[in-house]
Amino acid sequence: MIKVISFDLDDTLSDSQFDELIWRTEIPKAYAKEKGMPFEQAHKEVTAEYKNLWGKAAGNWRDASFWLKHFGLKTTWEDLLNALHHEIKHFDDVVPVLEELSKRFKLVIVSNAERKFIDAKLKLNHIGKFFSKVYSASSDFNLKKKEARVFKKVLEDFNIKAEELVHIGDEEEYDVKVPRSLGAQAFLLCRKGDKKADFNDLHEFKTKVLN
Ligand SMILES: [Mg+2]
Repeated sequence: MIKVISFDLDDTLSDSQFDELIWRTEIPKAYAKEKGMPFEQAHKEVTAEYKNLWGKAAGNWRDASFWLKHFGLKTTWEDLLNALHHEIKHFDDVVPVLEELSKRFKLVIVSNAERKFIDAKLKLNHIGKFFSKVYSASSDFNLKKKEARVFKKVLEDFNIKAEELVHIGDEEEYDVKVPRSLGAQAFLLCRKGDKKADFNDLHEFKTKVLN
């Protein structure tokens, strides 16, 4: 029997446009402005450094504040958020499906994203109210990706068996293989419908778990 449903966040509930703009546009823009150089050069230096620290900065790698500090910038997370919060978007099926599933199951978020990104996305449309708990692999576990111990913590916190947990997300490795390795049910969602997935939207997923 299913007791807890766990959702990935990015490209599952919200699209990644906001993140793309933060990393690829807004941080390079702040870097260009504060260091007095053309955007193109700033973009090149910033993205080279992202690449350079991938795997070396653990969970910090996903924290925009870490990068602003790392680059020695005065710009803050709040500045970035103020400039871009209108770019945060949820897919159309998110609110109705969460509304319905939250009546029957405990819902949680299991995301790689850093806590501030998650908070900003859950604030929109007040969807945070549907979730009993939110797990950030980077902020809570200092991991760059959700490994088995993140899902293990969900099982512990809710005192449930692996088969009582269902997870859905868009990454085959971390949203499907990892939770399945513990014995949980896991499904691959592909919003674009361009690869083999269990579902293309959350309505199909809802029908499956309610039956
Ligand atoms: Mg995702």
